[in-house]
Amino acid sequence: MENLDISKFGGTSVKDFESMLSSYKVVVANPNTRVVVISACSGVTNILVELASGACSAQKTEELIAKLRSIHTEIIEKLDNQDDLKANLEAHLKEIYDLTQEANMGRSDELTDRIVSHGELMSTYIFTALFNFMGTKAQWFDIRNIMRTDSNFGCAAPLVEVLKAQCQEKLLPLYADGESIVITQGFIGANSEGQTTTLGRGGSDYSAALLGEALNAATISIWTDVPGVYTTDPRLVPHAKPISELTYLEAAEMATFGAKILHPSTLVPAVRRGIPVYVGSSREPEKGGTWVRPKTESHPAFRAVALRKNQTLIVLASPKMVGASGFLASVFSVFAKYKKSVDLVSTSEVSIAVTLDAGTNTSGQSSISESMLEELRRFCHVKVETGLSLVAIIGNEMSNLPGITTQAFDSINRYAVRMICYGASNHNLCFLLKSDEAVAALVEIHKHLLE
Ligand code: ADP
Ligand code: ASP
Ligand code: MG
Repeated sequence: MENLDISKFGGTSVKDFESMLSSYKVVVANPNTRVVVISACSGVTNILVELASGACSAQKTEELIAKLRSIHTEIIEKLDNQDDLKANLEAHLKEIYDLTQEANMGRSDELTDRIVSHGELMSTYIFTALFNFMGTKAQWFDIRNIMRTDSNFGCAAPLVEVLKAQCQEKLLPLYADGESIVITQGFIGANSEGQTTTLGRGGSDYSAALLGEALNAATISIWTDVPGVYTTDPRLVPHAKPISELTYLEAAEMATFGAKILHPSTLVPAVRRGIPVYVGSSREPEKGGTWVRPKTESHPAFRAVALRKNQTLIVLASPKMVGASGFLASVFSVFAKYKKSVDLVSTSEVSIAVTLDAGTNTSGQSSISESMLEELRRFCHVKVETGLSLVAIIGNEMSNLPGITTQAFDSINRYAVRMICYGASNHNLCFLLKSDEAVAALVEIHKHLLE
């Protein structure tokens, strides 16, 4: 199909009947939208993660399952074929209950993925029913049949070539009649043994982009609860301004540094095929949104500011580092062994400081393990600092323009800055601050540089 659009709707866009109806209208308004990816109803994944924690009492389990029942039943009761929908829901709830008992005997990331996958499985089943209720032909599709990943449960990596082949064989024929719409799950996948995996919290955006790439789509649309990408999170700065277009690079930097509106990996598949990504509001599509493309007309020095919470700073010191070579290599090989990606780095004569993210792993468990720290302690002194957040200014040509750092530093001079990173890319300037001051600092930066 020539102008194929893949549309993804997040949790708030399918959270109740009215939201699902708005999302339905967005889909049918664009005849090119043939594949629809959706998240679990808002709040559902959080409940499932709690059930999977292995620490839910019998009473808590019952409470949480009742909550899941009520979220979905409220939607089902507005549709027809309610018996079938309720039976499907109860089968999921029974399975979730059984798996929760298993988790109470010993939690694991593998089990967590199995439990949380029910969120997307339930929401897609109901959303498909809503299409048919509204008289639009739609088919439910289990994405695990094609979204092949590795076995890194909780933050699995997609196997792109397998996905491409599977998409052509199994997904494309379902909408090739030019009429049907396929509704499928974001976030979840399966490894080569057929075990359920997840792509990490917020991963549905990434799923949609991967499908866009595999099906050679003309556009990927991310429909959410705000009309596009703003100069910062409008929840933190209510008068933040919408941005009509962004380059891939700017949007990727924003996502990497915490702008929750896009999962950090979303733009990777889009960039590989040069597919434009649209971000808009499913509730208010008429308000317009943001186009993310290879190039844009304007490239301001300051484009946006983002906040990333839950940063851990690890300071590694060793007197042996003076004039020696190989210290950094040893440190990074430990991070590589534990699959930790390092965000910020700063070095001095005898020490190196790096930040690690607490992680988008689905289970939400701390991913900085004691055994990794133990291994680092074998050759240096290790100090771990938590309670930190990253505030990142995103822009263009930052290190080529005079006055940029003065303006940035002036905007933040009332705060103690634990670490600064600047210069590796022309597109960002990052400050590491105490978490309890980070929002205030972000507001100040926004006021000085973006208003
Ligand atoms: P969804 O459930 O649709 O995936 P998310 O909650 O993951 O939605 O992402 C949308 C939210 O991202 C917005 O409600 C907003 O609070 C937040 N956000 C963070 N940074 C930005 C930004 N720069 N522009 C717009 N929204 C942002
Ligand atoms: N439902 C998943 C989550 O809450 C995936 C997503 O919403 O993108 O993280
Ligand atoms: Mg999201």
